[in-house]
Amino acid sequence: MKLIFATNNQHKVEEIQSVINHKFEVVSLKGAGIHIDIPEPHDTLEANASEKSRTIHEMTQANCFSEDTGLEVESLGGEPGIKSARYSGENRSFDDNIKKLLEKLRDQSNRKARFRTVISLIWENKEYLFEGICPGKISEERQGKSGFGYDPIFIPDGSSSSFAEMTLAEKNQFSHRKKATDKLIAFLRQQQEF
Ligand code: IMP
Repeated sequence: MKLIFATNNQHKVEEIQSVINHKFEVVSLKGAGIHIDIPEPHDTLEANASEKSRTIHEMTQANCFSEDTGLEVESLGGEPGIKSARYSGENRSFDDNIKKLLEKLRDQSNRKARFRTVISLIWENKEYLFEGICPGKISEERQGKSGFGYDPIFIPDGSSSSFAEMTLAEKNQFSHRKKATDKLIAFLRQQQEF
């Protein structure tokens, strides 16, 4: 069965497809022939995730889900949070976002941070929300080349490596997205008995 994932981020599609049972084929917006960039205008991850899944559901009437993720840094009062994608400005450059964050945390000893993902699923016309949290810290400098976004500077609790130094399977042992996806899968299992 196909499940539309309201995203254009191929990294996210791969991460979620690697966790979700083969009974579901996760299809990106592009894969579903939908060529839009859905805005994220709200001030919570939940509201932005809802906006994305509802927009796609209105267009397709199909079962679909979306996710929104934020990196929340304790000493910055939860920043960049919902502004994670555009932290350094509208150009959405991963590199500039990392640069700005490292700069803000220079000489800061409290480097505690967490990734938080919210998935909004629209299943048979009803919405369900699933959350996943990964606690960790921000490294002093970039480490590793894998993954995407803030992966090179995020070290999950229980590891000394950044997400960008891990394989996808290793990242999945800690990941916020994996935890939220596990809840999504548990729900789908109940509905589909697979
Ligand atoms: P969004 O959910 O696509 O709005 O993501 C917000 C920001 O967090 C973007 O800059 C992403 O690159 C970044 N981000 C989301 N998930 C991850 C992750 O698993 N690792 C590193 N950065 C991420």
